[in-house]
Amino acid sequence: MLDEVRALLILQDRDRRLLALAKDLEKLPQDEARAKTKLAADETAVKKAHDALVDCELRLKRLELDVGTRRTTIQRLKVQQFETRKNEEYQALVHEVTRYEKEADDLETRELELMEEMDTLRAAQKAAQEALAQTQRLVEEDLATIAQRHKRMEVERAEVSAERDQLAAQVPEAILPLYHRLMKTKVGMAVAPLDEGKCGGCHMKLIASTVVAVQTGKEITRCEDCGRILYVQE
Ligand SMILES: [Zn+2]
Repeated sequence: MLDEVRALLILQDRDRRLLALAKDLEKLPQDEARAKTKLAADETAVKKAHDALVDCELRLKRLELDVGTRRTTIQRLKVQQFETRKNEEYQALVHEVTRYEKEADDLETRELELMEEMDTLRAAQKAAQEALAQTQRLVEEDLATIAQRHKRMEVERAEVSAERDQLAAQVPEAILPLYHRLMKTKVGMAVAPLDEGKCGGCHMKLIASTVVAVQTGKEITRCEDCGRILYVQE
């Protein structure tokens, strides 16, 4: 193999690593976003549980007010009852008091039911909050892992990049523009192996003289189809 082709192969190996790293780095924001979406369902559940509790609290307050109103009315009716001299009016007031007392009792029964409902809703809210906290911990772990991966990849990219610059300096200058052009246009493979008479890059069958030229290794030989620089695998 020609020395310059060997040098290009090593350079290509680092360049391919850099391309892979760039691709992985590009994916990290998506990984982060995906991790965060895991929170959405739990956050909704917590909000729902909170809203249900607030709603129940309101209903309970309204009931308490209603009971209070009934009790005040009963007090007022009892005073009237005490003050009246007419039997007919007295009987009517007794009847009214009984009616209001029945209403107040019913409302109080409903109040007790709502208090029980409040207990259930409080427990549900607590469970939803705990589930969210658990998910938050997991998401934070995921994000920390992603951040670590990011850091590692940046370090590796800096190292490989420095190394590739050194390697590029060792490749004969005349061949570098061709290499760079091929790297860009041939999806990260400028130098391709000879593969049973075919180009390892585009997989087209090579003409016999090209195969012989690659095997002889005296000059830079390129695939007549895709233009990649060819080499014989050792
Ligand atoms: Zn080819």
